[in-house]
Amino acid sequence: MAELTHPSIKNGWFSEVSEEYFPGQAMRLRVDRILHAERSKFQDVLVFKSTDYGNVLVLDGIIQATERDEFAYQEMITHLPLFSHPNPKRVLVIGGGDGGVLREVVKHSCVESATLVEIDESVITLSKKYLPGMSCAMDHEKVKIVLDDGFKFLKEAASLETKYDVIITDSSDPEGPAEEFFKESYFHLLYDALNPEGVVISQASENVWLKLENLRKLKNECTRVFPNVGYSYCTIPTYTSGQLGLMVCAKSESTNLRQPVRRLEPEEESKLFKYYNSKIHSASFVLPTWAETIINE
Ligand code: SAM
Repeated sequence: MAELTHPSIKNGWFSEVSEEYFPGQAMRLRVDRILHAERSKFQDVLVFKSTDYGNVLVLDGIIQATERDEFAYQEMITHLPLFSHPNPKRVLVIGGGDGGVLREVVKHSCVESATLVEIDESVITLSKKYLPGMSCAMDHEKVKIVLDDGFKFLKEAASLETKYDVIITDSSDPEGPAEEFFKESYFHLLYDALNPEGVVISQASENVWLKLENLRKLKNECTRVFPNVGYSYCTIPTYTSGQLGLMVCAKSESTNLRQPVRRLEPEEESKLFKYYNSKIHSASFVLPTWAETIINE
């Protein structure tokens, strides 16, 4: 069988060249071997085994997850909103076809249903095959998987009575099928799909070291829709410059996004999570001075 190739891999190194970076900046990982490469109906899909970060999922040239560090992002994007809600029962995940967020959602025994809306079936199939540690909750009894465009799904949901307690947008970056998730119109749809105590979180595709002005714009969009908005972040080596922003919004002004309303005993926390704990929940909203000035003032 012919050896697989991909334009982003040269001389044994994968390079991520993204519009999120500065023009003179890129991210590289050494490749052990390419496991899968295809053009799906929606995007370019690559899975490779790296020498240091385990298997890596790449969509349209951008790293989505590596086995070594994915837990940082999956835990923060899931547990920040879930622990900010007193009793989350209905959870919706938009995107997230690798399954990592679902794995974290079902750790909350109060959750009764978790619906995942992923546009690209290839991501789900490949994650089951090459990222078993992430996709392990896809067959969980509380989980329902819908193959659809998340924006369209939420538009249609607007006419239904069904509302959610937490909505997690675990999307890819704005270039490609996830473009709509970074617009004010999307935050209106999220607002309408929430119960009164509802909380939403979205990956912000940026961090304070890169296009800080874009983060301010995104936060302003959220603030025009939600009365209660916070910018948080997690550290993770294989996303843009080692840090990824998370935009958290609550429908009620009285929700304190910065403090978990439910807490686990430290021993239970450390059994369940590798990154998240109640201290990092609060600390993740604290920004360095220059970023605080631009984003929050
Ligand atoms: N955590 C990752 C990151 O920040 O790079 C995102 C991981 S997850 C794999 C992103 C998923 O969003 C992809 O599987 C992609 O197919 C899905 N996606 C993109 N646009 C979508 C849309 N319009 N509706 C539903 N899912 C979408």
